[in-house]
Amino acid sequence: MRHISAFNKKAPPVLVTPNGAVNPRGTVDAPKGQFDLRPTVTRFQAMEATVDSREQRALEIADRFRIVESNGQFFVPSQKIANKKYAVRIGRASEFCNCPDFELRHTPCKHVLAVRLTIQRELNFDGTTTVTETVEVTKRTTYPQDWPAYNTAQTTEKDHFQMLLHDLCSGIQGPIQTNGRPRMSLAESAFCAAFKVYSGFSARRFMSDLREANERGYVEKVPHFNSVLNALENPS
Ligand SMILES: [Zn+2]
Repeated sequence: MRHISAFNKKAPPVLVTPNGAVNPRGTVDAPKGQFDLRPTVTRFQAMEATVDSREQRALEIADRFRIVESNGQFFVPSQKIANKKYAVRIGRASEFCNCPDFELRHTPCKHVLAVRLTIQRELNFDGTTTVTETVEVTKRTTYPQDWPAYNTAQTTEKDHFQMLLHDLCSGIQGPIQTNGRPRMSLAESAFCAAFKVYSGFSARRFMSDLREANERGYVEKVPHFNSVLNALENPS
């Protein structure tokens, strides 16, 4: 990586087109009448791509091949040539590999990188194993809010609840009361109890809701809050 940044500082990116002439802009033009349809990349981009794929290939090697160590040397199988192995030495300050890429560049080749990866995976200094995993992050899907529908639903929910609950409770048949002080019907008791739980209010604060239910005709008479509590505690 070091030599690349140095290269980038010293010279501007140069257009790579074979057989072309250098123009005053410092780039190379394809000869007249000849169109080079190959994608034009800068030398820097080309080297960067090579470095990326070198690391990529090192990962592939570390994942796919067994790297054997013997007498301080790591034998890394060649990706291209069957049964061919390159010898890698990892020193404290330098590395060595006997492959052509390393001989040419004297910087870590894919074999050196693969050995480093394998060592890192197999043994940390404290003897624990580091397993590097690629975690796929699933983007949370969000849906646009339909605000008018949301507002309508939220603002009328309690109305609908009362209506539906009244319908549901009206079917409850209670015993016919023949004597004593008139009591709340079983249907109304059930309505009050369920509505109280739904409201989330204490029995006293729930009284406003009950008065409203009374005005709407869901309960004949607004009961005392103790009656609501009794209805909740005594299911009969
Ligand atoms: Zn190598």
